[in-house]
Amino acid sequence: MLYRDYGTTGKKVSLLGFGGMRFGQIDDAETCARMMVTAAEGGVNYFDTAPGYFGTKSEEVFGKGLAELRQRKLPYYVATKTFATTEKGIRTEIEGQLKRLNVPAIDFYHIWCITSLANWQERKKDGVLETFRKLKEEKLINHICVSSHLIKDEIKELLLEGVFEGVLFGYSAYNFKTREPAFDAIRAKKLGAVLMNPLGGGIIPQHPELFEFLKHNPDEPITHAALRFLWDHRDISVTLVGFNDEAQVKDTLSAINGYTPRTEAELAAVKAKASASFEGLCTGCAYCDDCPQGIPIPKFMDSYNQKLLNDKPNGNAIADRLKGHWNVDIEKAKDCIECGQCESACTQHINIIERLKAIGGKTA
Ligand code: SF4
Ligand code: SF4
Repeated sequence: MLYRDYGTTGKKVSLLGFGGMRFGQIDDAETCARMMVTAAEGGVNYFDTAPGYFGTKSEEVFGKGLAELRQRKLPYYVATKTFATTEKGIRTEIEGQLKRLNVPAIDFYHIWCITSLANWQERKKDGVLETFRKLKEEKLINHICVSSHLIKDEIKELLLEGVFEGVLFGYSAYNFKTREPAFDAIRAKKLGAVLMNPLGGGIIPQHPELFEFLKHNPDEPITHAALRFLWDHRDISVTLVGFNDEAQVKDTLSAINGYTPRTEAELAAVKAKASASFEGLCTGCAYCDDCPQGIPIPKFMDSYNQKLLNDKPNGNAIADRLKGHWNVDIEKAKDCIECGQCESACTQHINIIERLKAIGGKTA
């Protein structure tokens, strides 16, 4: 296992982290706990969950798993999150979390899922930062962190507070262009960087043909190649992987144990191949993101990608992605005045106006 610094906290965290969002048998606590033990025996020491993963069941099975780790003297850090913003709401939440997780304190506690800067301002008004500071003084949490769905360099504003010690955000071989600027801010503040969605929300394993460019050799599993792409990034502290079963835990441990880093030049060469493979797909570069109507175009085009790549017959992948992932009102697509500015800027030559029309005509 490889370990990296989590910012300036003094903590060494495993480059491979255990995400509690994909347990295949969440109602079988024994099996879930065994998966956590197997991961910890393989050197994983960062375990991340949330109160919304299978309701509160993920935190509950984490409680059992962490107790087993303590019994076996396997070291760990536990991370979880809250959507609550008021002091009363956060205190109620954390009280339940400490009980479920069966720990006296949470190592990395996250203000969960900032979807826009407006959303951040609202939470600040509710006093979320003051409450997190108090929780830290009271030693109920050890480190104040934030999870973000912001794009380009919006994260800079979020990090102006100077209170955060780490950031959790989505980054993968599929969306790295739009997320890369976040690392400039994270590096400047010397923060921990924990990544979620390393497989692009399933897009990478479901469409391996698009991601062939990541592979060392034709026989390398695409999931290993996609993770290696992240492990090569020197600013990443932890890559969270959600496991379905114990076999996946073992398989991913074998990938990191067999991993040898590429040079910066080799990694740059791999990244350069990405655009050609993503023809017709929005790569999230955000060059179009200056719409006079305030339409968050990269978020709409990312959601359209879901339709191209992931939609089922009669599915509603666009609406689901806009609402569930981005917290964007689908009706905003109708505000387009067809000025054409975004299409001129689009690196992928996507017919953005037509796609927005299609999205706006589709009710959620
Ligand atoms: S064409 Fe529509 S979406 Fe594109 S910049 Fe103009 S108003 Fe915005
Ligand atoms: S629509 Fe085009 S310019 Fe805009 S983020 Fe996607 S690829 Fe980049």
